[in-house]
Amino acid sequence: MIPFHSVLPEIAQREVRCIHIETAPGAPPAAGLPGGEYAFVEFYCEDLNCDCRRVFIQVIGRSRPDQVLASMNYGWEPESFYRERMHDPDAPGEIVRASLDPINSQSKHSEELLELFQQTVLDESYRLRLRRHYEQFREKLRHRQNPSAAKDSRAAGETRTASSDPESGDPRIPKAHRQRFGEVAALLQQFGEKHLDAELTGFVMELWKRICRRKAPDCLRGKPTVWAASVTHVIARMNFLFDRSQPVHLTLDTICDSFQTNKTTVGGKATQIERTLRLRQHCEPGLCRLDLLETFTNIRLSNGMVLSWKMAKQMGYVPADAKIEDLE
Ligand SMILES: [Zn+2]
Repeated sequence: MIPFHSVLPEIAQREVRCIHIETAPGAPPAAGLPGGEYAFVEFYCEDLNCDCRRVFIQVIGRSRPDQVLASMNYGWEPESFYRERMHDPDAPGEIVRASLDPINSQSKHSEELLELFQQTVLDESYRLRLRRHYEQFREKLRHRQNPSAAKDSRAAGETRTASSDPESGDPRIPKAHRQRFGEVAALLQQFGEKHLDAELTGFVMELWKRICRRKAPDCLRGKPTVWAASVTHVIARMNFLFDRSQPVHLTLDTICDSFQTNKTTVGGKATQIERTLRLRQHCEPGLCRLDLLETFTNIRLSNGMVLSWKMAKQMGYVPADAKIEDLE
């Protein structure tokens, strides 16, 4: 775990959560937390092969920046995500509620700070912010690793291939997957020009990129046409393109006939893609029309009420610092 501010100092300066505790003038000194400013400093895992989706937080008081007042762990994903990855049966519940870290520094104020975190700091906008910070942190680390990757491919004489086909130049796609990426991307492009609009074609491409970026060699198995049809099917389902009232609509027959594939195979593979990439139906940033994203993304307000993002925005409930980009 390394501090978020050591990787993205400007964002950290703007966006690390601080709270101010006021003590009434003349009040007798209470046993609890003294008045002042407290910062919730974020740390994330620097292992890009480990997608643990958690934050380690240290609480520091402004008056004593050298002293850690509490160390806690928090995970923003649903409990089921952690249940699949953690052996201790109590751990998933603890991490989604936020809990004190059993190994790292604590103080006599730890319990109180944890309570404050759970009740005051941790609202939906903060949850989304942490999720975005984790993505930004990993993106930055990936970029730091890129210059050497670019050097490698130049040394191997691959620059020409990359520049003649800019799509496969995505440095996040492993080299061994790039040829396969290009084959299927060409099929998707053709289909998109005939049956989709530019935005939907972009979603289809983005999904195929995400599949090829995975380390596992899944994308190399099976026929390119089956991949193309299945990727299109996922995007169609996610954007309600099978609904005839949509301005752009499709049938599964159109997809399967175009790619000359079997419907059952394509249906099964589409479901497998959704599971492997843990796609949220109708609200997956980068793969959904914005209107669907806003309608199907539910947020929980600090008062416990659950609303769609769209409605919360219309009613003025979405906090000023919560942006739809926070979902990415
Ligand atoms: Zn990790």
